[in-house]
Amino acid sequence: MSRAWLIGAGPGDVELMTLKATRALAQADVVLVDDLVNPDVLQFARADALVVYVGKRGGHPSTPQAGIVAMMLDHLRAGRSVARLKGGDPFVFGRGGEEQQALHEAGIDVEVVNGITAGIAAPAAIGIPVTHRDHAQGVVFVTGHGAGSAEPDWHALVATRMTLVIYMGMRRLGDIAGALLAAGMSADTPCAAIESATRPEQRHALARLGEFSQAVASAGLGSPAIVVIGGVASLALAQAVSTQAADATLHPDTDFTR
Ligand code: SAH
Repeated sequence: MSRAWLIGAGPGDVELMTLKATRALAQADVVLVDDLVNPDVLQFARADALVVYVGKRGGHPSTPQAGIVAMMLDHLRAGRSVARLKGGDPFVFGRGGEEQQALHEAGIDVEVVNGITAGIAAPAAIGIPVTHRDHAQGVVFVTGHGAGSAEPDWHALVATRMTLVIYMGMRRLGDIAGALLAAGMSADTPCAAIESATRPEQRHALARLGEFSQAVASAGLGSPAIVVIGGVASLALAQAVSTQAADATLHPDTDFTR
């Protein structure tokens, strides 16, 4: 019997993948790999597995969602086991839920293997505990990708006073910061952006909300990055901050540890 898995590969560092994920991967005949997955995790796949990259980075157009599901169904119906490998956790953004629905509609059961989501791992990589109780009663994972009708209700989110962890927010960071300020969030609110977290090329910027988008732009940070907004960002490690000391483009008031 062929099997289907939706596997979270974690945020980047191969060692942050679960044992269950590595074991499932080792059984797959076919591995469909997303953009943000560190290719090093393929060391756990069988040497003879068919590996298909379906992401849009590296100049290739992304495979449309329906095409990915169709590909999975073709392989499964031909008796091949399929591992769908996604960055972070398969059910935190990244459309794992949609793929599960589509497979269920086709009468196929899919096994979900959780991964460590970037929204927790990226802040942790610079010492930010997203729910530190001195700063927040909870954390909200929100997409920054939406605009227009898909725009999150920033006003309502500010009112929760919870830590905001924003995925896919880099392109619209200026708009988002503006919306938060307009909704009454203090311009002094500590913020962090962490790019390529848990990978060797990890970088970050820290600034207060009023200067945040400018600081991120000056530091040249881009996607993929997680944005953390709220008091917990003040806990970013002094050590992590000092690794940025050479970067004069950062706003001088970014060391919250003083
Ligand atoms: N399923 C993934 C999220 C997919 S959405 C997860 O659970 O982590 C893609 C977004 O995730 C990116 O735009 C970025 O905001 C974030 N992301 C993923 N990997 C990241 C990493 N290593 N460092 C920083 N952000 C990352």
